[in-house]
Amino acid sequence: MNSPSEAHQPPPIGMLAELTHRCPLQCPYCSNPVELTRKREELDTETWQRVFHEAAELGVLQVHLSGGEPALRQDLEALVASCAEHGLYSNLITAGVNISRARLEALADAGLDHVQLSVQGATAEVNDHIANLPGAFDKKLAFAAEVTDVSLPLTLNSVIHRANLHQIPDLVELALGRTGLRDAVRAIVARDEVEHGKPAPDLYLKAGELLGFAAGEMLAFEDSLVGVQAAQAAGVPVVGVPTMGQDGFAPDFLFGSLADPVLQAWAAAL
Ligand code: SF4
Repeated sequence: MNSPSEAHQPPPIGMLAELTHRCPLQCPYCSNPVELTRKREELDTETWQRVFHEAAELGVLQVHLSGGEPALRQDLEALVASCAEHGLYSNLITAGVNISRARLEALADAGLDHVQLSVQGATAEVNDHIANLPGAFDKKLAFAAEVTDVSLPLTLNSVIHRANLHQIPDLVELALGRTGLRDAVRAIVARDEVEHGKPAPDLYLKAGELLGFAAGEMLAFEDSLVGVQAAQAAGVPVVGVPTMGQDGFAPDFLFGSLADPVLQAWAAAL
């Protein structure tokens, strides 16, 4: 029987599915275990499909298909289709060096919702050195273009360390350009540009200063308690998307999904 505290735990929102340890890259910080699971020891298709079914029953909303390189699984389309069948939002976390256009389209047809592309550096020299794979950067850029071309949402993610720390502004620019968000972003405020991080209001006050808006003229979108507190401390009305089930999470407006029609109508009117 669950203890009283366990009984009140909200269901997990996301699940990370490490489909394989195999990967064409060799990043030195890789979190794969030293003793890698061999291909023949990986969970088979049917087992993952059962896991996705059980995850959906538990209340999981998102599945992050990761590795290693998940595209090395020949059954990736079937796994994506299984996520879609169970109403799970699927995110493919990939190095982006071994997915052809035809396979990307097949994954989209199977119901893939989102692609997260890892980038090791903002230039070929840094990226390919860290990934230990010549030509990887050019393949990633080509893959990113194809992802947006097939109308899949794209996120870039980078592990930051001393070998690419100096490239953070270039990585941000790369992400804005490759995801199509360049024209939608007028200003960026980073934590090190203010004295206090969230829940202090500093980030929102700095954003208002850069954008030339008073607090009451802005609208914040937050998914965490400290984010909501920071916006409200600055006097900025805040939309919570979605609730993270945290005590005290009390935004001015609350939506369960970015797809909510009212929220979509707001966005369209901006
Ligand atoms: S791309 Fe990811 S899985 Fe592959 S070596 Fe780099 S960190 Fe490890």
